[in-house]
Amino acid sequence: MKVGVAKETAAGERRVALVPDALSKLTAAGLEVLVEQGAGVGAMIPDSAYEAAGAKVVKTADLYAESDVILRVQKPSDAEAKQLRKGQAVIGTLQPLLDPKLMERLAGAGVTAISLDAIPRTLSRAQTMDALSSQANVGGYKAVLLAAAEFGRYFPLLTTAAGTAKPANVLILGIGVAGLQAIGTARRLGAVVSAYDVRPETAEQAESLGAKFVKLNTKIDATGAGGYARELTPEERAAQQAELNEVIGGMDVVITTAQVPGRKPPVLVTADAVAKMKPGSVIVDMAASALGGNCELSKAGQTVVTDGLVTIISPENLPASMPIGASQFYARNISALLLQLVNDGALNLDPDDEIAGPVTITHGGEIRSEAVKKLLNPEAKA
Ligand code: NAD
Repeated sequence: MKVGVAKETAAGERRVALVPDALSKLTAAGLEVLVEQGAGVGAMIPDSAYEAAGAKVVKTADLYAESDVILRVQKPSDAEAKQLRKGQAVIGTLQPLLDPKLMERLAGAGVTAISLDAIPRTLSRAQTMDALSSQANVGGYKAVLLAAAEFGRYFPLLTTAAGTAKPANVLILGIGVAGLQAIGTARRLGAVVSAYDVRPETAEQAESLGAKFVKLNTKIDATGAGGYARELTPEERAAQQAELNEVIGGMDVVITTAQVPGRKPPVLVTADAVAKMKPGSVIVDMAASALGGNCELSKAGQTVVTDGLVTIISPENLPASMPIGASQFYARNISALLLQLVNDGALNLDPDDEIAGPVTITHGGEIRSEAVKKLLNPEAKA
């Protein structure tokens, strides 16, 4: 079976789906690896490094013509999708729920679409394949570095002959994978870290990393399915916001990571809260996208400085800004999934398998994902 590694073409994307270090496991399993010319350049990996690891570097047209399976980070562009052919498979973080029409086109063309973001994250044997976690981890780390670089003061307590610098007060909102990494990173830089989440079990996790868990007087337990949070009711939201506004006002740096699957991210930092922050404070909104963000004033992909001199950074793709480390983790995830799915030199996509079932979005000309079908045809009965 021939496995092709595509060069990413989405704006700002510097990651690559496979790194040379990950090749040996695939070749040991009898897979032949083709790499599109220049695929690794964004992640500082020259074609020669892939060749040295046993891959064949090919032109774009040959990659699409020869590969049985194409590995990627992001979904294919429309032009790339048109090059995929019947019986070929594409594996990546395809975000099928954000672009169900693309899935419909791929199914129509007989292309098998396999998405890493559909992996059951609570299944322990799928943990090595969990690209959402590995990339959120990179994002949480980089968000703190961005905040520290933008903040005009020190993060740690520093005593020098020229005086003492007070440590920065950093608040992390949302203690999932990214939030936990952000806590650890800010602590390692010497900041005084507080953290808050609507899932009470996160208190212990935050404290074990040296953060103070912010306890609100309003008791909210928003633990939802699969370890995710549920959306808050309007009453819970109002009570949370009033209390959080006070906490945020005393912070130098706020990093927000809160998401609710399938919904617009909750607003946790209102314009009023930003107005209470001291000049020079920094917010990094990791949830910002075209849908909105955790901060009412954030603008996805931009840095905004308010009249009160608070800087709000809203990066859209933090993992792509650390492409070497992010690609290394991603390559591990995607090759673990591929090896799980390959049987006797072919993909075995048993719909009843607890991993192959959910990750297979389209196969054999059909859309298999019920969630995608529902988005395409909301009126249809389940
Ligand atoms: P996420 O990106 O969906 O959300 C980030 C955090 O935001 C979550 O902790 C969530 O509770 C929080 N949040 C949502 N609404 C909020 C609000 N209004 N106020 C404050 N915080 C809010 O989450 P994630 O990082 O993808 O992880 C979600 C869960 O999945 C976690 O429980 C994580 O431990 C779990 N997980 C489990 C495994 C595993 O078992 N192997 C692997 C990965 C993730």
